[in-house]
Amino acid sequence: MSLARVYSRVMLGVDAIEVCVEAHLSSGLPGFAIVGMPETTVRESKERVRSAIINSGLEFPDGRITVNLAPADLPKSGAQFDLAIALGILQASCQIPNDCLDNIEIMGELALQGEVRGIQGAVPAILAARKLKREIILPAANAAEADLVGYERIGIVSALTDYLEHVRTGKDLKRSNGKHGPLNPMDKTPAGFLHVKGQLFARRAVELAAAGSHNLLMIGPPGCGKTLLANNLIKLLPPLGEQHAMEVAAIRSVAGESIDACHITRPPMRSPHHSATHVALVGGGNRVNPGEISLAHRGVLFLDEFTEFKPSTLDALREPIENGEITVSRANYRVKFPARFQLVAAMNPCPCGNASDTRRECRCSSDRVSRYLGRLSGPLLDRMDLLVELPSLTQAELLERGQDNDDQSRWIQAAAAIQRCRQIQIQRAGKLNNELHGDELTMHCGLTTPLRKLLATTMDQLGMSARAVHRVIKVARTIADYEESQEIGRTHLLEAISYRRSRCVQKLGNL
Ligand SMILES: [Zn+2]
Repeated sequence: MSLARVYSRVMLGVDAIEVCVEAHLSSGLPGFAIVGMPETTVRESKERVRSAIINSGLEFPDGRITVNLAPADLPKSGAQFDLAIALGILQASCQIPNDCLDNIEIMGELALQGEVRGIQGAVPAILAARKLKREIILPAANAAEADLVGYERIGIVSALTDYLEHVRTGKDLKRSNGKHGPLNPMDKTPAGFLHVKGQLFARRAVELAAAGSHNLLMIGPPGCGKTLLANNLIKLLPPLGEQHAMEVAAIRSVAGESIDACHITRPPMRSPHHSATHVALVGGGNRVNPGEISLAHRGVLFLDEFTEFKPSTLDALREPIENGEITVSRANYRVKFPARFQLVAAMNPCPCGNASDTRRECRCSSDRVSRYLGRLSGPLLDRMDLLVELPSLTQAELLERGQDNDDQSRWIQAAAAIQRCRQIQIQRAGKLNNELHGDELTMHCGLTTPLRKLLATTMDQLGMSARAVHRVIKVARTIADYEESQEIGRTHLLEAISYRRSRCVQKLGNL
């Protein structure tokens, strides 16, 4: 046989697309060509494959080798084709039996000595192979991901020779233990909440943000507890269901991040530094990796020092906030990544941080404050649901002895209430309040005539956009749900409006 064919996969976003690897051996001048839009890493595969075959004590064929990666119009990057190419060449040169590569998928990078190295994107690859009921061969470095998905037809190899031994002698490959990770979350009950002094108003906003998956902006001087509150918010969220946990695992797998099966049901929290590049935040790069916003999918994206991020980067968040996904464009194709995150942002009220502090003097000129606040665009602020100003702590609050036990149980009670509140929303609309759009808003968030009038007056007074009004209604719905009230009442609506009323927020809105 001089022609072999084997399946592998290439990542396009978080989808693992089937690639057919064909290897043809013909007589003629010795040569080795890979065709089918290979990018640099794939072209370099030739050298790794040749060395791995020779160093595994096998024969690298003399003739002319052509490897075709189909479909030809899809760009291929990554080193995961190495193992498939090597086995294709071995079959084309009759060093392994003819039928041993039928109907299986193979992924793995080869080291020059013939060991198999881990790949990115094992989770989506396994899910795709499972759909077709095909066996899939993966590197030992990806065994944790194999265990997580729990598919019984996964073979694990550490070296090229492992697979050869398997087909030549029938020796069994190492198998994944097939345990379902996400079904056995170890940390169902939240605990370890951080002790936050004072800040009752902000605390309430954090609970509401968790209850309806609303975006939250906290404005306050340094040291007032913004980061502590953000860290508690993620703990207030209930564990992810299996489908959502698998989405998170797939994104981490494509990004090459480690996967901990015990904690994969905890919603992720990502806190990129404000100096993070645009690509690191929204995704892209040579291999088109998911960015922080996708790694925060189904969890929280925490942006501290919000105004220090580049305005262009912040504006790129608008698309995912609306659609729950981000499109990354390359020269010849576009990739979509899921990015349904909850945005939690924190900032100082002015460059020196003392503007809202009663005891310290703010020395910023009004021009400087305007420039500082002006970095946040109106459309981005419109997409924040809850805006809260945190005062600096009073002497009494600062000296307050940590009543950790009381505080812990208060947070745990809140977590239980939030879980109930989210269940109410799912039962009513099949989704959380923050995800309601258009008709769903009218259907599930009806307001009585007096409340509609109240909202219209406020809208004029505060100069709110239609988008901001929709967000106020959604927050009011969450407050009503949190109070276990069927209807949105006057107090619910007034509270929702209050999250757009603070002094600093008014300043922001008037820019
Ligand atoms: Zn200042």
